[in-house]
Amino acid sequence: MKTASPFSFPVSPALAAKLAKLGLARDADLVLHLPLRWEDETRITLIRDLLPAQTAQVQATVRDAKVAYRPRRMLTVTVEDAAGGVLGIRFLHFYPSHLKLFQPGESFRFSGEVRGGFLGLEMVHPRFVKADDDTPLPTQLTPVYPTTAGLSQAALRKLVTHALAAPIPDTLPAEWRAELGLAELESSIRLLHQPPQASALAELESRHHPAWRRLAFDELLAQQLSLASARRQRNARPTLPLPPRQRLTAAFIHALPFELTAAQERAWQEISRDLAQSHPMRRLLQGDVGSGKTVVAALACLQAIENSFQAAFMAPTEILAEQHYRKLAQPLAALGVRCTWVSGSQRKAERQAAWQAIAAGEADLAFGTHALFQEGGSFQRLGVAVVDEQHRFGVGQRLALMQKGTEPHQLMMSATPIPRTLAMSFFADLDVSVIDELPPGRTPVVTKLVSAARRDDVLVRVREACLAGGQAYWVCPLIEESEKLQLQTAQDTWAVLTEQLPDLRVGLVHGRLKPDEKQAVMAAFQAHEIDLLVATTVIEVGVDVPNAALMVIEHAERMGLAQLHQLRGRVGRGSRESACVLLFETPLSELARARLKVIFELSDGFEIARQDLLLRGPGELLGHRQSGLPMLRFADLERDVDLLEAARNLAQRCLAQHPEIAARHVERWLGSRQSLSAT
Ligand code: ADP
Ligand code: MG
Repeated sequence: MKTASPFSFPVSPALAAKLAKLGLARDADLVLHLPLRWEDETRITLIRDLLPAQTAQVQATVRDAKVAYRPRRMLTVTVEDAAGGVLGIRFLHFYPSHLKLFQPGESFRFSGEVRGGFLGLEMVHPRFVKADDDTPLPTQLTPVYPTTAGLSQAALRKLVTHALAAPIPDTLPAEWRAELGLAELESSIRLLHQPPQASALAELESRHHPAWRRLAFDELLAQQLSLASARRQRNARPTLPLPPRQRLTAAFIHALPFELTAAQERAWQEISRDLAQSHPMRRLLQGDVGSGKTVVAALACLQAIENSFQAAFMAPTEILAEQHYRKLAQPLAALGVRCTWVSGSQRKAERQAAWQAIAAGEADLAFGTHALFQEGGSFQRLGVAVVDEQHRFGVGQRLALMQKGTEPHQLMMSATPIPRTLAMSFFADLDVSVIDELPPGRTPVVTKLVSAARRDDVLVRVREACLAGGQAYWVCPLIEESEKLQLQTAQDTWAVLTEQLPDLRVGLVHGRLKPDEKQAVMAAFQAHEIDLLVATTVIEVGVDVPNAALMVIEHAERMGLAQLHQLRGRVGRGSRESACVLLFETPLSELARARLKVIFELSDGFEIARQDLLLRGPGELLGHRQSGLPMLRFADLERDVDLLEAARNLAQRCLAQHPEIAARHVERWLGSRQSLSAT
């Protein structure tokens, strides 16, 4: 019985499974499965002209083939070309059939890298085809595709050729292409699969070739279209508007011990305006560590509450949720706002009581981690949901929240500055406000790179700072492989430091403490009952103790740039001169060296994030959790900024005026993974 295949030619189930591993589920996917590189098999090189390390093709006749056992079992074939040059060929993996194939006198073409072997030049595992002098040479470069175990290049090439048999209609009208200076789609795709001999290989490999640019543009356009369409659909969904009443918000601002910075004020106005709309807000509030996002978020909550709605304030960790609660509950209570919080550390009865109050509308503002809100009960009238440190949640979470009950306005906050190009692409469905100014009176943090061999000097410094009335953090190395090991390290570090610094009060906080224990330690640090706080990276986000002006980070070379920047943002919050000491172990890897250089030289979060993007690529910067987003395969956000801008503009126009073109385009690129109708 024949099963329906999404391919237009026969594909066995076993083959289909292999193709699926490569994300190839239909003809159109094969058409867009583009080569990693190309081999030039259009020329024959004489053996006597070969040079070591060169990649070349020879046409030669087998003189001799045998299995040798030194130094291990291998098939060695000696071949000779018409000009009398002799070359050794070695196969370390081979079948008995190979031995039969390489009969003396038979002619082959071998192509591969030339090596200077023990007995002269040789090729190891070259590609080969049976061919004599009259066999025509290909006139095109040979594509080399990304593949998977058990799927040969030859098989893949054949499949792609099948898929390419059909014409490839261009999704973009000719006038648009002319206007944008873009190549035609069909010729671009065909050229990349089968570049003519004379193609500029360097341009192809660096992906600056017009054919690549066309594909990069199409990919970016598909992304922009699907995000812009998500945004349009959202704008079409009704929500109850929450206009500014200036009752609670004005009173809160009035009671603050400081003035809002101009940037905070601007962001707040943008949010306030959004809330007054009759469709749900989705705004990302970006601001470097310490830029004062919390106050702005509190204002958003208050605008909901003064409209008799509730607000939820979600943080990624219990420590942070609790800190927000402790900081805001009191000033808000003074305004008559009823705050509550739900926590994993609460006794069950207590938590149930909190949820009851939330469900009955007796609590106006609830703090907690997103996990709690997801497992928990429901709100009576949720108007605004604030998600702090959004980058910790990922895009999947972004959707889960949207689907909870009635649709609240949403404010997401991120201290991981997202470079403009990323914001324009992956976050194009959100509106973005940026707080690009720190509150006045902050002292810049001096960053020092110190080899771990000089740890003792650092101890002296920590001691002096603490005895002079300051406080310090000591951040333990990140051990990704094992949480247990991480805990062990933190405890060991604490024990050692306690011993080495007997006149300091040394505390310890780590992820495995129970929430109330964690909270007790943080409270003690805040109250200056602890001088030196040994911590795992749990303090990465949000902790705010202005008197702590010194931070030591061990094994800084293991940490990513965003993380180092976040950690460093914990100091420099008060008037004390602040420093961050990055201890590193030698030898440093290339990447670690590059990262440390960036963090040493730069303090601006956006610039650091941009460098991070350059060093790591967007996938990692967005975090693994964000992998639900279709990653860019062809476009490069640094190289193709111009294309990104163009795609963004076209997406707007296209959706408004030519929805059928938009739908076709997205279908080609995202296929079954996403369509314009499903947000
Ligand atoms: P983040 O943006 O990292 O979340 P926070 O909201 O925690 O920053 O603010 C950091 C600190 O700055 C807090 O102690 C907060 O009270 C203070 N702060 C916020 N806005 C201002 C301001 N306009 N002037 C002075 N201090 C401010
Ligand atoms: Mg914060």
